[in-house]
Amino acid sequence: MRIAIVVGHDEANQGAYSATLREFEHQFNTPLSVGVVRDLKERGAVAQTFHRPAGVGYSTAMAALTSEINAWGADLVVSLHFNSMGDTSWAGCCALHWPSSVRGNLAAAAISEAVAEAVGNRNRGAIAQADSWSGAPLYILKDTAAPAVIVESFFGSNPEDATKGGAARDSGALAAAIAGAAYGIVASW
Ligand SMILES: [Zn+2]
Repeated sequence: MRIAIVVGHDEANQGAYSATLREFEHQFNTPLSVGVVRDLKERGAVAQTFHRPAGVGYSTAMAALTSEINAWGADLVVSLHFNSMGDTSWAGCCALHWPSSVRGNLAAAAISEAVAEAVGNRNRGAIAQADSWSGAPLYILKDTAAPAVIVESFFGSNPEDATKGGAARDSGALAAAIAGAAYGIVASW
């Protein structure tokens, strides 16, 4: 079993900033990816962290990243993010998948459920999505040969949700939830 863990965004463009956590997505998810990979290896899976190259355009970076993952040969791809909204009342976790991907849907549902339990927030579940809010294609879902999931574990913009997410990251519970759900769903295929 081979599971690719992707740290969302990149070194130069780190994604959303959480004022509560005082971290950007890329900063927050880099140590999380280490924990997820470690947990997956302990379960007997082959796992590796992937970063997109920094300093190039989005489509160029994603073409390089998805090519690298496809050459590596993943059974499942999990990209780590947190959500953010101007309206700070939004809270909960969800996992995005390519609309026509049946296995992507199953993986997203399993991972979102596990993450909500670990973080202690509302499970918004699996969401089929082809484009980001800005209208750009979600290449990690579209161009990976394996089923892929974007995990939005909590809203960094919501102080209570972000505090719960940070605690779950720091305790190792968030990594264990993502790894356990990813391992379990691939084992069932
Ligand atoms: Zn993100």
